[in-house]
Amino acid sequence: MSHAGRIIGIPGLEIERVVRTQSIEVWAKPSFRPPCKHCQVPGLRIKASYWRTVKHTRQGNQVLTLHLRVPKYHCRGCRRYFRHSFTGIRPRYRASEAYRLEVFEAHDGGVTQRKLSLTHRISPATVERWYQHHVSQKRSEGDRRACPRVLGIDEHFFTRKKGYATTFADLRNHKIFDVQLGRSEPSLRRYLRHLEGKERVQVVVMDLSETYRSIARRYFPNATIVADRFHVVRLINQHFLKVWQQHDPEGRKNRGLISLMRRHQWRLSDEQHANLMNYLSAYPVLQKLYVAKQRLVRFMLLKTLTRSRAKAKLPAFMALINQLAASPLKALAATLKSWLQPIVAMWRFTKSNGITEGFHNKMEMMSRRAYGFRNFENYRLRVLAHCGWDGIINRVR
Ligand SMILES: [Zn+2]
Repeated sequence: MSHAGRIIGIPGLEIERVVRTQSIEVWAKPSFRPPCKHCQVPGLRIKASYWRTVKHTRQGNQVLTLHLRVPKYHCRGCRRYFRHSFTGIRPRYRASEAYRLEVFEAHDGGVTQRKLSLTHRISPATVERWYQHHVSQKRSEGDRRACPRVLGIDEHFFTRKKGYATTFADLRNHKIFDVQLGRSEPSLRRYLRHLEGKERVQVVVMDLSETYRSIARRYFPNATIVADRFHVVRLINQHFLKVWQQHDPEGRKNRGLISLMRRHQWRLSDEQHANLMNYLSAYPVLQKLYVAKQRLVRFMLLKTLTRSRAKAKLPAFMALINQLAASPLKALAATLKSWLQPIVAMWRFTKSNGITEGFHNKMEMMSRRAYGFRNFENYRLRVLAHCGWDGIINRVR
């Protein structure tokens, strides 16, 4: 490679002329004549040549424009014609791959389309098009990856018009595997049917939703269904707060009390605990339920138990559920009973959809930064670009 070619970063160029004004204009031509691309025979004849203008990387704050002399070759062997192709510049494109990548990375890093259209002298629509192109290119590489072994399924809100979406998370690698519009079996059917490697999913972590449970049974036949700790604890708290509402609507509105009620018992200071007990002493039934709730939450926080220890815990847990079944928390007791197996399975694992919740926050931020998405596919690409892979493209093709 010549010195000039080395600076420009495109091999096989011979620089003819450089003009530096507002921008950098470089005239160049191929420094060698390749063999025929069809039959590999050397000694091509140049039939004609034409000029091609391509935007290339910025040098300092100036756009570099390449004016390339492109020979049209004629092969004496196979009698075919073809045009010279340059490494890093695709046929018919008006910018080099390096230039497009530069724009993609800047836009991905938060530089606006408007700003980029000024610095890189392209239209905002072009910025968007290049961005989409790179993301979907990266996605199509990702499409070949198989289903994660430990899959987290959770719903999140998309838009008022289109409703909810389902998140599929790779809980082992802490990545979003995919997002799909809808949270019912019919709306996810098409996607799930065509998903590859479903049989290698070993664990599916989910909230206590019947829909997701039947989806998991149907589409991930080899997976153990595991209840999601985060959601179960939240459900228990919701049921408890509802019963509290019935017992003392006024106290239920007290923010300080709500915070004390929700917290784990061991996180309360002695004084806070005393205050809470003082309040509860006026409501004996509620007090009993509070104690039961605390015991229940402790059960939900069990993790990495061996099979035999999980088995040993079961009778006490069942006794507690039966006790609740005869109390105002009977609806909760019924739910927990029907989810007994996934809850016991949860005791043996550490994975939870906690990280998915974290991603949901991030996705909401992304959506806000884009002033909301209307097109789900655009949203999906953006989510996967930010939560599904590292955002760096190493190779320029
Ligand atoms: Zn040939």
